[in-house]
Amino acid sequence: MSIAIDLTGRTAFVTGSTRGIGRAIAETLHRAGAKVAIVGRSLEVAEAVATQVGDGARGFACDVTDPASVRAAIDAAEAALGPIDILVNNAGLTRDNLLIRLTEADWDLVLAANLKGAFVATQAVIKGMMKRRQGRIINITSIVGITGNAGQANYAASKAGLIGFTKSVAKEYAGRGILANCIAPGFIETDMTDGLPEATRSALLESIPLKRLGAPGDIAGAVLFLASDLGAYVTGQVLVVDGGMIG
Ligand code: NDP
Repeated sequence: MSIAIDLTGRTAFVTGSTRGIGRAIAETLHRAGAKVAIVGRSLEVAEAVATQVGDGARGFACDVTDPASVRAAIDAAEAALGPIDILVNNAGLTRDNLLIRLTEADWDLVLAANLKGAFVATQAVIKGMMKRRQGRIINITSIVGITGNAGQANYAASKAGLIGFTKSVAKEYAGRGILANCIAPGFIETDMTDGLPEATRSALLESIPLKRLGAPGDIAGAVLFLASDLGAYVTGQVLVVDGGMIG
């Protein structure tokens, strides 16, 4: 007997889904039958990507560092696609520097986007999920939020914070049928990692037991599991998807 993952009748809102990991997540949830909100900072880009994804995908714009714009995009998505059942807080950015050179502005921006953005979006969908007594919150953290990384104190702090946030939400809303989990990707080939020097890439590759860098689809598969009925008994967890990198 085959097992089908079917998200027909579900609506997903995926922040940062115009490219990279977020786009692969949105495409995968859509292939499983969900309606998906494609979200980025430019409405034009988000709408163009939604058209490429296909029927049942719509584009919305928000900047995750601007809470009012996040709430407005969620309202617009719910009006167009129906209540959000699956929220994927994926949008994220880096402003790397050694601690002694890290500016307050770069600290604040990374925390605002990666951590506060997830709080604002989660708070905006949670009441509806509580009423319907179902929901999946999936937050994209990073292995760096578990291990730390030289030159990424702000980013690592934001991703570690996201883990604590997720575990708290999981405990607070389990009784309402809402599950909250994190996925911690390792090194995934996207625009975010494109600029790394060749020497750094080969050193990273050496440290990955599966001997390949990750693809956005590797993360999308894990999201699909957590969003589907297969993940119905998993909450408050951090699923590491890193080719075995951090052991
Ligand atoms: P990309 O840089 O390739 O894509 C980032 C996405 O986020 C884009 O869709 C972008 O949309 C959106 N975005 C960026 N800033 C904002 C903002 N202020 N408001 C709204 N949307 C924004 O990143 P990745 O796909 O590589 O990363 C996705 C997530 O995975 C991030 O949270 C990242 O920290 C995490 N991650 C990535 C790893 C990797 O190796 N790539 C490893 C571990 C974690 P647009 O530009 O259209 O606005």
